[in-house]
This record gives sequence, C-alpha cells and structure tokens, in this order.
Amino acid sequence: MLPNEIISKQQQLDEMVLEFKNYTANGATASYIPALKKADPNDLGICMISSEGTFIKSGDAEKSFTLQSISKVISFILACKTRGIPSVLEYVDVEPTGDAFNSIFRLELSHPGRPFNPMINAGAITVASLLPGDSPTKKIDSLLSFLEKMIGRKPMINEDVFLSEWKTANRNRSLAYWLKETGYLLCDVEEAMEVYLKLCSIEMTVSELAQIGLILARDGIHPYSSELLFSPEIASLTKTLMLTCGMYDYSGRFAAFVGIPAKSGVSGGILAAIPPSARVLNNRSTSWGIGLYGPAIDKHGNSTAGVKLLTYLSKEWNLRLL
Ligand code: GLN
Repeated sequence: MLPNEIISKQQQLDEMVLEFKNYTANGATASYIPALKKADPNDLGICMISSEGTFIKSGDAEKSFTLQSISKVISFILACKTRGIPSVLEYVDVEPTGDAFNSIFRLELSHPGRPFNPMINAGAITVASLLPGDSPTKKIDSLLSFLEKMIGRKPMINEDVFLSEWKTANRNRSLAYWLKETGYLLCDVEEAMEVYLKLCSIEMTVSELAQIGLILARDGIHPYSSELLFSPEIASLTKTLMLTCGMYDYSGRFAAFVGIPAKSGVSGGILAAIPPSARVLNNRSTSWGIGLYGPAIDKHGNSTAGVKLLTYLSKEWNLRLL
C-alpha cells in the first residue's frame, strides 16, 4: 500500500470509530463476571495489520482486556497442533448450535455427549482438558508459551478477573461435570475449570489480537519471522469454525452480513482473520488481522459498537470472504 493510501485508510478508520462509538450506548459491560463490569462501557478501539505491513489503529486502542472466549481459538489451535486434528475431533464436533455460548441442554441431546463445537463453553472446557501438560500449571504455561511465539511476549493472567469468575462459575462447573460424566473431559473438573478460566483471563491489547488474526489469515505463518506456527489445515479449520460459530448465537447473521471469520469474548474483544479473497471480482490479495475492543456487549455477548463497526468496515473495504 502506498503511503498516501495508508493515510487515507487511517482517516477512514478514525471517522468510522468516531461514528460507531455511539453504539456503545446500546450495550452494557458483562455483569455476570463482576470484575468485567468495571470496564468503561464507552470504549471502542481497533487495530488492523495487513500482510503488506500496513499497521493502523484507532480509538481506545491502548487498553488491555481479557480474552474471555477469544482464548477458545488459541486453545483449539494448540490442541490440534499437539494432538492432531482427528484426535481433537473425537472429543469435540464442528457443528454450530445457534444457542447461547454457555448453554447446557444440547449436551444431553448430543448422544453420547460430545460437545457441538470448540467455540462454545462446553467444547472449550473439553479442549482445555486436551492441552499438553499433566497439570493445570503446565497446560496454562504451554498455551502462554504458544502465545509468546505469536505476539513476542508471554501475556499475563488477570488474577482479579480469574478469581471473580472462579467464584461464580456455577454454570461452567455444571458443564464440566456433565462432560466428565460422559467421558469428554480428560482431567478433573476443578483442574479443567482452572485451565479454562485462567485462559479466559489472559490480558492483551488490540494490536496483539490483530497480529494473531494476521497469522491465522496467513495460514499459520508469522508475518515478521515467517515461521510456520501451525499448519494450514489447522488454520483453515479454525477460520471455518470462527465463521460458523465464532459470534455465539449471532454467528449466522454475522457470517451473512459481515462475512469474515471472527471470535468475540464477553470482555468486548473481537479477533478477526481475513485471508486473501478467492473472488475474481474482488481481486484482493491482501490478508488482514483485526483486533477490536468495545466492552459494552449485546444480549448475544458481542460488542455492540464492534459488530456495527465491522459490518460497515467489511462492506466499505470489501473484506467479505464470499
Ligand atoms: N469466561 C467466560 C465464560 O466462561 C467466557 C465466555 C465468553 O466470553 N462468551 O462464561
């Protein structure tokens, strides 16, 4: 991209963020995790990094926030990398549910109890138990080390958020007990809870999320070191799951109206990965990684302003996959 094109993109992004910040008023910070309620609901920040080296950010882009459900993407990738895709899929399916992220009722319907996909809590708790390491500490450390390869530093766990959720995780515990009962949890319930909730409490910035998005968009290749961090097969499967299941029970509409693989978290974060388009008419060869933060969320658990901003951005900049 030429320097004046970058300046124009930066200006466009600044204008969009300013306009879509208004939509933060349509949501509220997650109240079921007490520590998340403290976030500033008016915040909206975004970072975009392209395969051509364009780096633009706008709004409240310097704040750290916890990954929450975005961590499900990273643990799924690491589980597939260490165990192989077929072995992971014995424990978790790839079928969207259309249900809320923490829903329990399909676990009984899905004989013999395999969770529907790794982007909902049930599936992610199973995946947490599949991570390498024979203790919660080792499993968490293996994931933090993997993240270090992607973003160049080992991220911190926000203990305040972790403890807040640990004390109130009754629904997640009930999911874990069910999974244990049906054989879809490979460690103890409390161990799986510690791993899952600590991974949800990893803190990052939008720039770091955007970098992860770009690695996914580039099929596992790090943009600066060119190291292959995970296979193209894993990248492709993960992006498909993000597109079909990544935005909770809004995933179908997000795929239809935004059309990019994305994963949100109840902290208001969104990770998006935009591979080069296959559409002849589009003729777009650039990949993008996007990190977004807007802690006011809607009834599905997605950032209200974030969804509006991505919907507009995807249309304006021709980012849709299909
Ligand atoms: N830690 C959260 C939970 O388990 C993550 C959910 C989310 O971000 N949707 O409820």
